Amino acid sequence: MGIQLRCRCGKLQGEVDATRVKARAICYCKDCQAFARFLKAEDRVLDASGGTEVEAALPAAVRLTGGLEHLACMSLSPKGIYRWYASCCDTPVGNTPRNPKASYVGLVRTCFAASPEELDRQLGRSHITANTGSAHGPTKTTPVATLVAVAKIGTMLIKARLDGGYRDNPFFDANGAPVRTVRVLTREERAAVTP
Ligand SMILES: [Zn+2]
Ligand SMILES: [Zn+2]
Repeated sequence: MGIQLRCRCGKLQGEVDATRVKARAICYCKDCQAFARFLKAEDRVLDASGGTEVEAALPAAVRLTGGLEHLACMSLSPKGIYRWYASCCDTPVGNTPRNPKASYVGLVRTCFAASPEELDRQLGRSHITANTGSAHGPTKTTPVATLVAVAKIGTMLIKARLDGGYRDNPFFDANGAPVRTVRVLTREERAAVTP
Protein backbone atom coordinates (compact mmCIF):
# COMPACT_ATOMS: atom_id res chain seq x y z
CA MET A 1 0.00 0.00 0.00
CA GLY A 2 1.22 3.49 -0.75
CA ILE A 3 2.04 5.98 1.96
CA GLN A 4 2.07 9.64 0.98
CA LEU A 5 5.26 11.68 1.19
CA ARG A 6 4.98 15.46 1.41
CA CYS A 7 7.30 18.29 2.34
CA ARG A 8 6.14 20.77 4.94
CA CYS A 9 4.87 23.31 2.39
CA GLY A 10 3.31 20.62 0.21
CA LYS A 11 5.16 21.35 -3.05
CA LEU A 12 7.28 18.18 -3.15
CA GLN A 13 5.04 15.14 -3.15
CA GLY A 14 5.46 11.44 -3.56
CA GLU A 15 4.60 8.02 -2.35
CA VAL A 16 6.35 5.00 -0.93
CA ASP A 17 5.27 1.37 -1.19
CA ALA A 18 4.91 0.29 2.44
CA THR A 19 5.65 -3.35 1.60
CA ARG A 20 9.17 -2.36 0.59
CA VAL A 21 10.02 -0.50 3.78
CA LYS A 22 12.28 -2.96 5.61
CA ALA A 23 12.86 -1.36 8.99
CA ARG A 24 12.16 1.68 11.11
CA ALA A 25 15.12 3.17 12.89
CA ILE A 26 16.04 6.07 15.09
CA CYS A 27 19.56 7.28 14.39
CA TYR A 28 21.36 9.38 16.96
CA CYS A 29 24.58 9.96 15.00
CA LYS A 30 26.09 13.42 14.90
CA ASP A 31 25.81 13.55 11.11
CA CYS A 32 22.04 13.08 11.17
CA GLN A 33 21.87 15.79 13.84
CA ALA A 34 24.08 18.01 11.64
CA PHE A 35 21.74 17.48 8.67
CA ALA A 36 18.76 18.62 10.77
CA ARG A 37 20.76 21.64 11.90
CA PHE A 38 21.82 22.44 8.33
CA LEU A 39 18.10 22.63 7.46
CA LYS A 40 17.34 24.54 10.68
CA ALA A 41 14.80 21.81 11.29
CA GLU A 42 15.98 20.42 14.64
CA ASP A 43 12.63 21.05 16.28
CA ARG A 44 10.76 19.21 13.54
CA VAL A 45 13.21 16.36 12.98
CA LEU A 46 15.05 15.50 16.19
CA ASP A 47 13.51 13.83 19.22
CA ALA A 48 14.40 14.87 22.77
CA SER A 49 17.59 12.77 22.67
CA GLY A 50 18.73 14.05 19.27
CA GLY A 51 17.37 11.09 17.29
CA THR A 52 16.19 11.17 13.68
CA GLU A 53 13.55 8.61 12.70
CA VAL A 54 14.29 6.99 9.33
CA GLU A 55 12.38 4.31 7.46
CA ALA A 56 14.75 2.01 5.54
CA ALA A 57 13.37 1.34 2.07
CA LEU A 58 14.23 0.17 -1.39
CA PRO A 59 14.67 3.29 -3.60
CA ALA A 60 12.46 1.63 -6.24
CA ALA A 61 9.64 1.81 -3.69
CA VAL A 62 9.75 5.62 -3.80
CA ARG A 63 7.92 7.64 -6.43
CA LEU A 64 8.25 11.41 -6.49
CA THR A 65 5.10 12.70 -8.14
CA GLY A 66 5.15 16.47 -7.86
CA GLY A 67 7.40 19.44 -7.27
CA LEU A 68 10.53 17.58 -8.32
CA GLU A 69 12.25 20.88 -9.08
CA HIS A 70 12.42 21.39 -5.30
CA LEU A 71 14.41 18.22 -4.67
CA ALA A 72 17.94 19.09 -3.55
CA CYS A 73 20.95 17.18 -2.32
CA MET A 74 23.80 17.90 0.08
CA SER A 75 26.60 16.00 1.72
CA LEU A 76 28.43 16.79 4.92
CA SER A 77 31.80 15.86 3.39
CA PRO A 78 33.39 14.80 0.09
CA LYS A 79 32.82 11.13 0.92
CA GLY A 80 29.67 11.49 3.01
CA ILE A 81 26.34 9.95 2.10
CA TYR A 82 23.90 11.95 0.01
CA ARG A 83 21.26 13.72 2.03
CA TRP A 84 18.17 14.69 0.06
CA TYR A 85 15.75 17.41 1.03
CA ALA A 86 13.00 19.68 -0.29
CA SER A 87 14.61 23.07 -0.86
CA CYS A 88 11.23 24.87 -0.91
CA CYS A 89 10.83 24.52 2.85
CA ASP A 90 13.98 22.65 4.01
CA THR A 91 12.19 19.38 4.77
CA PRO A 92 14.55 16.39 4.91
CA VAL A 93 13.55 13.62 2.49
CA GLY A 94 16.08 10.84 2.87
CA ASN A 95 19.62 9.57 2.88
CA THR A 96 21.23 7.39 0.20
CA PRO A 97 24.67 5.88 -0.24
CA ARG A 98 26.85 7.51 -2.93
CA ASN A 99 26.80 4.31 -4.95
CA PRO A 100 23.30 3.54 -6.33
CA LYS A 101 24.24 -0.14 -6.64
CA ALA A 102 23.65 -0.18 -2.90
CA SER A 103 19.86 0.01 -3.13
CA TYR A 104 19.00 1.82 0.03
CA VAL A 105 17.20 4.96 1.07
CA GLY A 106 16.58 5.98 4.66
CA LEU A 107 13.46 8.13 4.36
CA VAL A 108 13.30 10.72 7.12
CA ARG A 109 10.02 10.45 9.00
CA THR A 110 9.45 14.22 8.69
CA CYS A 111 8.64 13.85 4.96
CA PHE A 112 5.78 11.39 5.58
CA ALA A 113 2.32 12.94 5.37
CA ALA A 114 0.84 10.09 7.45
CA SER A 115 -0.08 10.43 11.10
CA PRO A 116 1.93 8.43 13.67
CA GLU A 117 -0.98 5.96 13.99
CA GLU A 118 -1.18 5.48 10.23
CA LEU A 119 2.56 4.84 10.01
CA ASP A 120 2.41 2.34 12.86
CA ARG A 121 -0.43 0.55 11.14
CA GLN A 122 1.36 0.33 7.79
CA LEU A 123 4.95 -0.19 8.92
CA GLY A 124 4.58 -1.78 12.34
CA ARG A 125 5.43 -0.16 15.62
CA SER A 126 8.89 -1.51 16.31
CA HIS A 127 11.92 0.69 15.86
CA ILE A 128 15.59 -0.13 16.06
CA THR A 129 18.06 2.39 17.40
CA ALA A 130 21.46 3.25 15.94
CA ASN A 131 24.46 5.23 17.16
CA THR A 132 23.01 5.72 20.63
CA GLY A 133 26.47 6.80 21.81
CA SER A 134 25.83 10.26 20.33
CA ALA A 135 22.41 10.63 21.95
CA HIS A 136 22.01 13.44 24.45
CA GLY A 137 19.24 11.80 26.42
CA PRO A 138 17.94 8.37 27.37
CA THR A 139 17.58 5.79 24.59
CA LYS A 140 16.99 2.08 24.45
CA THR A 141 19.23 -0.35 22.58
CA THR A 142 17.72 -3.02 20.35
CA PRO A 143 20.49 -5.54 19.60
CA VAL A 144 18.33 -8.43 18.37
CA ALA A 145 15.94 -6.30 16.33
CA THR A 146 18.95 -4.50 14.84
CA LEU A 147 20.47 -7.78 13.65
CA VAL A 148 17.19 -8.76 12.03
CA ALA A 149 16.87 -5.35 10.34
CA VAL A 150 20.46 -5.43 9.09
CA ALA A 151 19.86 -8.89 7.63
CA LYS A 152 16.65 -7.74 5.90
CA ILE A 153 18.34 -4.65 4.45
CA GLY A 154 21.34 -6.76 3.36
CA THR A 155 19.03 -9.18 1.56
CA MET A 156 17.27 -6.25 -0.11
CA LEU A 157 20.63 -4.84 -1.34
CA ILE A 158 21.85 -8.16 -2.71
CA LYS A 159 18.59 -8.98 -4.43
CA ALA A 160 18.38 -5.54 -6.12
CA ARG A 161 22.00 -5.87 -7.19
CA LEU A 162 21.51 -9.32 -8.71
CA ASP A 163 18.25 -8.71 -10.52
CA GLY A 164 19.18 -5.20 -11.72
CA GLY A 165 16.38 -3.66 -9.65
CA TYR A 166 18.88 -1.13 -8.28
CA ARG A 167 18.57 0.80 -11.57
CA ASP A 168 15.06 1.83 -10.56
CA ASN A 169 16.02 4.71 -8.28
CA PRO A 170 14.47 8.20 -8.31
CA PHE A 171 17.61 9.76 -6.82
CA PHE A 172 20.04 8.63 -9.54
CA ASP A 173 20.06 8.80 -13.34
CA ALA A 174 20.73 5.91 -15.73
CA ASN A 175 24.48 6.51 -15.48
CA GLY A 176 24.42 6.20 -11.72
CA ALA A 177 24.90 9.93 -11.13
CA PRO A 178 22.77 11.77 -8.58
CA VAL A 179 19.86 13.61 -10.23
CA ARG A 180 20.92 16.87 -8.56
CA THR A 181 24.18 18.73 -8.17
CA VAL A 182 25.32 17.82 -4.70
CA ARG A 183 26.22 20.65 -2.38
CA VAL A 184 29.19 19.40 -0.36
CA LEU A 185 29.79 21.40 2.79
CA THR A 186 33.22 22.82 3.46
CA ARG A 187 35.00 21.84 6.66
CA GLU A 188 33.94 25.14 8.19
CA GLU A 189 30.32 24.78 7.12
CA ARG A 190 30.27 21.25 8.50
CA ALA A 191 31.79 22.31 11.81
CA ALA A 192 29.17 25.04 12.13
CA VAL A 193 26.29 22.53 12.01
CA THR A 194 27.88 19.58 13.85
CA PRO A 195 26.73 19.28 17.48
ZN1 LIG B 1 8.27 22.31 0.54
ZN1 LIG C 1 22.62 8.98 11.50
